[in-house]
Amino acid sequence: MTDRHAVVIGAGAGGLAAGIDLARSGFRVTILERAASPGGKMHTRAVDDREIDGGPTVLTMRSIFENLFADAGASLTDRLTLLESPIIARHAWSDGGLLDLYPDPERSRQNIENFADRANGIGFERFYSQSARIHQTLSETFMNASKPDPVTLVGRVLRQHHPSSLMAARPAPNLWRALGGFFPDERLQQLFARYATYVGSSPLSTPATLMLIAHVELEGVWLVEGGMHRLASAMAALGQELGIDLHLDTHVSEILVKGGKTAGVRLEDGTSLPADVVVFNGDTNALATGQLGREAMRAVKPRSVQNRALSALTWCIKGSSSGFELDHHNVFFESDYPSEFNTIFEERNVPTKPTVYLCAQDRGPNGSLNGSERMLMLVNAPADGDRQVWAEDDVARTRDNAMAVLDRCGLNLSFRESDCVSTTPTDWHGRFPGSGGSLYGGASHGIWSSFTRPGARSRLKGLYLSGGSVHPGPGVPMATLSGRLAARAVLLDIG
Ligand SMILES: Cc1cc2nc3c(=O)[nH]c(=O)nc-3n(C[C@H](O)[C@H](O)[C@H](O)COP(=O)(O)OP(=O)(O)OC[C@H]3O[C@@H](n4cnc5c(N)ncnc54)[C@H](O)[C@@H]3O)c2cc1C
Repeated sequence: MTDRHAVVIGAGAGGLAAGIDLARSGFRVTILERAASPGGKMHTRAVDDREIDGGPTVLTMRSIFENLFADAGASLTDRLTLLESPIIARHAWSDGGLLDLYPDPERSRQNIENFADRANGIGFERFYSQSARIHQTLSETFMNASKPDPVTLVGRVLRQHHPSSLMAARPAPNLWRALGGFFPDERLQQLFARYATYVGSSPLSTPATLMLIAHVELEGVWLVEGGMHRLASAMAALGQELGIDLHLDTHVSEILVKGGKTAGVRLEDGTSLPADVVVFNGDTNALATGQLGREAMRAVKPRSVQNRALSALTWCIKGSSSGFELDHHNVFFESDYPSEFNTIFEERNVPTKPTVYLCAQDRGPNGSLNGSERMLMLVNAPADGDRQVWAEDDVARTRDNAMAVLDRCGLNLSFRESDCVSTTPTDWHGRFPGSGGSLYGGASHGIWSSFTRPGARSRLKGLYLSGGSVHPGPGVPMATLSGRLAARAVLLDIG
């Protein structure tokens, strides 16, 4: 198949994974990336003399990356040092309470019991086994299907599992309500509900099955020595060793179609590049809204504003902290969690008392502070980056509100104004065309949402899809898997 040419649009996790699998299967692969470096959301921001990870920081499901490298005849751990985080995350509440979770469930249970009481410790035990069952039921049958449908899913589950495991995957009203049944202490309900935001969604609207995300993290979290962006660089380097032609600063403006079939791409400068297949790694809404030409609009359905997943305001900070012992991953909560999601998804605003995630990137195993430290601070926001321009004053006010939450939890940050670089939903929309600033494609709201996400094959012949807006969903591991599913679909169709 060496004469076959695949063009991949975008060098995010899904684009790189698709390119790697196609290249090692004998395709000539060209990856075209509009940004100046590969990785997409896995990126860094320069702050003074430091590079700070401005995108993903939590690495889970390491086997997905190990398998990608191993299948290409390479070893991930020869190229990157992965360190298991002894603490999954440190959680603090503005009205009191501090709780660490560990990759060891018994240790977490004990800590939860000390933090709340025995009933919550027992609740955690029940939650852990229920989420494990859901994970076991869905991981093979759902994540690895190129486009799952409910009927096939039920059939496979019935063949592979006892019907009781189907009950484990049953759609309880929503994640928030389901967690209330495990945890009498609302702070724990809040802590585990936050995992819905990993797929950009509200725990008030996601099905209870999404508790499997918490389970994945409880199984272990890894830190990439040097930062998450190194994973993207390692994937890009592997691809290039396999012969991939990677072009940066190259924007694709049109997908060319001939006789109803994808025939190649046109670049912004007018150059045309013929291809046998095209894999699109951007947000699928860019296709639906005509940003890759009229013909490609029919490849997927458009996404309504209401169905967009979360965006975020982030600040990459070089500074110092005091008053609170930070770990690598830290979450700071206010008390009224449901109102946060009503404000974001209904009022389309950022709450004045938001939940704040803070990644202290120089802390954790092998961490060293060297005077100042690098931090990423994040609050969730509605994905209205194409409809609302964030003025400097609004960004500053939101940052003040986030820092007031930290302050109420005992943490004080200090930094020079020039050492704090913000990214708004408007900026995200600019970086990821068609997204409106959504960082996770469509929201996983309602029990059918997982089945309405586009699969590896688009409706346009020869155009395949990968990335966080495609099945099996967002997050670096899932986006990587989606790229592998796209490559598999290409090989099945063309082979
Ligand atoms: C602040 C933040 C925190 C996050 N935290 C985590 C976390 O802790 N753990 C986790 O697992 N996930 C996290 N995520 C989500 C995760 O980063 C994404 O789900 C994943 O990286 C998406 O990969 P992707 O394959 O969809 O590609 P993307 O990263 O979306 O990249 C797509 C690429 O396509 C390029 N592109 C698009 N259109 C064109 C075009 N027309 N021409 C050329 N190139 C084009 C873009 O420039 C981009 O580089 C986070 C995301 C953000 C932003």
